[in-house]
Amino acid sequence: MSTPRRLLARLRDLMARSGTGAGGTKAELPAVMRLVAAELVSEVCSLYVAHSGDILELTATEGLRAEAVGHTRLRVGEGIVGLAAATGLTQNLPDAQNHPAFAYRPETGEDLYASMLAVPVRRAGRTLGVLVVQNRAPRRYDGDEVEVVETVAMLLAELLTASGVAQTQQTGFDAALPRRFDAATLAPGLAVGPVVLHLGRAAPQRVIVDDPVGERVRLEAAWQQMQRGLDRLIRDHMPGPPERRVQDAGESREILEAYRLVAADTGWLRRVVEAIASGLSAEAAVARVASDLRDRMRRIADPYLRERLADLEDMAGRLLAHLDGGADSSPVPVGAILLARRLGPAELLDWHARGILGVVIEEGSPSGHAAILARALGIPALGGARGVVDSAEPGDEIVIDSEEEQVLLRPEQEVVQGYLRALETRSARQAGWAALRDQPCRTRDGTPVSLMLNVGLALELSQLANTGAAGIGLFRTEIAMLARGAVVDTAEQTAVYARVLDAAGGLPVVFRTLDLGGDKLLPGSPPPEEENPAMGWRSLRIGLDRPALLRRQLRALLLAAGGRKLSVMFPMVATVAEFRQARALLLAEAAKVRPGPAQLDIGTMLEIPALMWQLPALLEEVDFISVGTNDLLQFLFAADRSSPALAGRYDLLSPPMLDLLTELVVKAAPANVPVSVCGEAASRPLEAITLVALGITTLSMPASAILPIKALLAELDLPRFRAFLTSLRRTAAGVASLREPIATWAREHELPV
Ligand code: PEP
Ligand code: MG
Repeated sequence: MSTPRRLLARLRDLMARSGTGAGGTKAELPAVMRLVAAELVSEVCSLYVAHSGDILELTATEGLRAEAVGHTRLRVGEGIVGLAAATGLTQNLPDAQNHPAFAYRPETGEDLYASMLAVPVRRAGRTLGVLVVQNRAPRRYDGDEVEVVETVAMLLAELLTASGVAQTQQTGFDAALPRRFDAATLAPGLAVGPVVLHLGRAAPQRVIVDDPVGERVRLEAAWQQMQRGLDRLIRDHMPGPPERRVQDAGESREILEAYRLVAADTGWLRRVVEAIASGLSAEAAVARVASDLRDRMRRIADPYLRERLADLEDMAGRLLAHLDGGADSSPVPVGAILLARRLGPAELLDWHARGILGVVIEEGSPSGHAAILARALGIPALGGARGVVDSAEPGDEIVIDSEEEQVLLRPEQEVVQGYLRALETRSARQAGWAALRDQPCRTRDGTPVSLMLNVGLALELSQLANTGAAGIGLFRTEIAMLARGAVVDTAEQTAVYARVLDAAGGLPVVFRTLDLGGDKLLPGSPPPEEENPAMGWRSLRIGLDRPALLRRQLRALLLAAGGRKLSVMFPMVATVAEFRQARALLLAEAAKVRPGPAQLDIGTMLEIPALMWQLPALLEEVDFISVGTNDLLQFLFAADRSSPALAGRYDLLSPPMLDLLTELVVKAAPANVPVSVCGEAASRPLEAITLVALGITTLSMPASAILPIKALLAELDLPRFRAFLTSLRRTAAGVASLREPIATWAREHELPV
């Protein structure tokens, strides 16, 4: 019998003897510690159990001093044990005592032990404790050992919950207080309603079994059912009544099909089968493998890859549901808002069919599948709001507000009433905006402004008609590929780009070439280990180093245009030489494609400040420049755009940024090079009026901003604002931001900002 299987069998016997009462369980814990220590040939095995929210108490040990049991306590986040609890990640340290987080507790006698393996004991997303193994000799525990300890941790999670030794629910006064969480917009909107929690499925009842063959049969059956269920979901492409369906089923289907590829990956199934062979039940094996993958993927900083984690959990949940006899489709309370740590696309569709009106996904990112579908379905969705899932109880009232990027849990009644009024006003305002759709966009004094769309999916093309936008100012080609989960071949790319041009029906479209990191693109070659991936080997840099990939995309764009006008721009250009190289590739492809485009415009994004010192040469070569303020701000101020700690610290409305943009506009005008802005800043009211005042009259933005910005510009007296801005800038040298005075001016002039 293999080691884990033998250990699990002995643990099962032990637990069968102890029953599940708190007393029985506590009494057996030292024996469990002894067994694990013996199995791993470790000097120490200890269990710390969570109490009163954030205290971890040494509850059982083999190897540490017995008198420390019940006395040694660490806060969540304190020491290696606290770190494992806070992050939910296994800590495997050959030299724990020299780790910066190490917290020495003399009463335990642990100064003898160098290496430490600390595994969080988790259930339904909550940390119940930490299981720790220690050895005198410095060593890193190998994969098999980690797996054994993680499996025992899973078993302990069941035991602790069933016996009531661990507290899993928040209790006391704190739980009822209002809480506010910062969040990030995944899909715009506002919603107020009761909480429903997406906690994943309850942990399996049976963890260890005698009959691995029977379990495999159950697994196979559930796997088949899951595949059939997904086929149905994709066939129907959208559950629920027709008015709830997305406008363009094609793209949703693509997302779901990409997801199905993940679901059909039998590598995953094989690992589950192996876990069953080691003595686990089918449910426990699925949970085990999913948790293993989860931990690995959570260490990946890349938001796209982390999003695949949501697909994986979606699938694991689905498989567990089938093992359990079917998915829950009961309706949710009216107007419910879903809180999830992670959420996959199929899960979002299921919940949507059950009637949720909004969603918070703690680990969601805007390019995630669930976020893309939420936008398509028109469901307000926020990401971030760390801790909201743990703080909320089902039925709690909650507000999600994408404008303020905040989540308010159990808000005061006056706050709720305020939001309900805002919802009413908003629907009236939206009706007013809709009337603007077919009006030309101009300021009050008649200066025309071109408002274009930022999109990345065919699904969003219907927004051209919905918003009356002047065209597509930024088509992020990488998003469609991310949605498919792979770099697609030339023919498929051609079809996607042709659909975009067809939908635009002659309106201008600017395609941006792939703006991806290397790890997502180059199967077969390991991703580069980089300290700063945002400033690393990404985007055009990969395109120039791997020209076959870029050429394939350029060919697809040219083929898609076939006789129509084509505008292409390159991202992350740092030198004129890079632009020349990229343009040469495009022209070489263009020479081969027949029919060639009716007109070929080749431009650059301005995202890297170095280009500002190459303007004379650049302006001779480019047909247009589009300023990517998201990256330009990050590189100008050396401030990571994705760091919540830096959000709002550096401002587009600041002297250096405004001076940079002014210089660009002034130098580009005599060269006849159009300048536009396609970063998120263009969609914000104060930034939009300021950009127009600087002379940038083409702004590209997400669909939700087009009509509000159009309404705002219609009220703007541009000459007066420009005069104000000019004098403000004259007196503002050295200030961090001009936001306040600009906002005051806007309010005094009754602009809807
Ligand atoms: C930008 O950097 O401003 C931009 C539009 O590109 P992305 O946000 O896709 O990096
Ligand atoms: Mg960018």
